[in-house]
Amino acid sequence: MQLAALYLDFNSYFASVEQQMRPELRGKPIAVLPVVAETTCCIAASYEAKAFGVKTGTRVSDARKLCPDIIMVEGRPPLYVEFHHRLVEIVESCTHVERTLSIDEMVCMLTGSQRQVENALKLAAAIKKKIECEVGSYIRCSIGIAPNVFLAKVASNMQKPDGCVVLRAEDIPERLLTLKLRDLNGIGKRMESRLMEFGIESVADLYAANRQQLRSAWGSVEGERMYDKLRGVHVEYQAHDRRSLGHSHVLPPELRNAESALSVLHRLLQKAAMRMRSYGLQTSSISVRVKFLNASSWVAETRMNSTDDTLILTATLEQLWRQYPKRKHVPYAVGISFSSLNTPDQCSMSLFGEVVQGSKLNGVLDELNSRFGKNTVYLGRAHDALKHAPMRIAFNHIPDLTTESDE
Ligand SMILES: [Mg+2]
Repeated sequence: MQLAALYLDFNSYFASVEQQMRPELRGKPIAVLPVVAETTCCIAASYEAKAFGVKTGTRVSDARKLCPDIIMVEGRPPLYVEFHHRLVEIVESCTHVERTLSIDEMVCMLTGSQRQVENALKLAAAIKKKIECEVGSYIRCSIGIAPNVFLAKVASNMQKPDGCVVLRAEDIPERLLTLKLRDLNGIGKRMESRLMEFGIESVADLYAANRQQLRSAWGSVEGERMYDKLRGVHVEYQAHDRRSLGHSHVLPPELRNAESALSVLHRLLQKAAMRMRSYGLQTSSISVRVKFLNASSWVAETRMNSTDDTLILTATLEQLWRQYPKRKHVPYAVGISFSSLNTPDQCSMSLFGEVVQGSKLNGVLDELNSRFGKNTVYLGRAHDALKHAPMRIAFNHIPDLTTESDE
């Protein structure tokens, strides 16, 4: 089986962009924050900070304990998006970028002579050199090269920072046996404990399992896909078999009023949106339901252009809420669900850019106004709802946290 995929993962991306732009931060432990506040978490840490144990998701107060000299820097999402576009362009000038998977990850498919080890390595070196020359030496990436995208991603995580690892078919599974199950994309905390129940406690156990066993462990065809992915087989990007996704919640007595019901719905929406993004999906249909103690349920549904953008989804919920019955019913449970889920052909960077910029309050307001017109009556509400969960929006598309908050 030949090499077929080259995966690029930029190291400590947000922190590296800051160090590239601000020489005074170079060589120093820095953490990037969504807003400068002691109650928030780091969204990125420089390698110097990582050496003290600070990582994405570390609380600011903990980061200061781990590394008293740490420098806190407020994130500049538009700048990271701008760098992203430049980086994609540079890689594209070396070889075609098949797909961008997040702001700091992209994948290229190797073709023809690129599939030979020495040529693939030359290509990786050329990409790194060009990034260094055209953007700067603080922007570094780890590159993984393997027979499929799944293994190339694994390889990209094996040497950081500035790594380059080739996994050939004949290296598999031996070179992976020292990894933990959680190092494999698609195995999160929950899946790991599920695998334990099936007697799969290590990567070696995973390779020892047959196709049927993995199917049972995953409880779906996803297990068979994993069987193939582990063996370097090219598995098509998934047309996800999920049709819908949602969350519901029974309201505690003190929240059994319309206003609280709506704010709980906003929280559920943000949680569901995050899960949806973690699967790489978009929705074109939202439905909301409210169960009443003293009346039959209220259900409202609407369709829209496919999106995974929390801002658009939030505004859509507000629009649906205008139909909420004015009578004095007592809501006791609420739920929201996204249906007509689909996989975008390409990760839409324009949407991504909008979402990232959305973490700035003005950006949020501008966005809603430009999308829904100056008469966006419920803007204040949406604004409040966003204010209550700014982290989630800022964390959008940062895979680790996306998965963690899915727990
Ligand atoms: Mg990265």
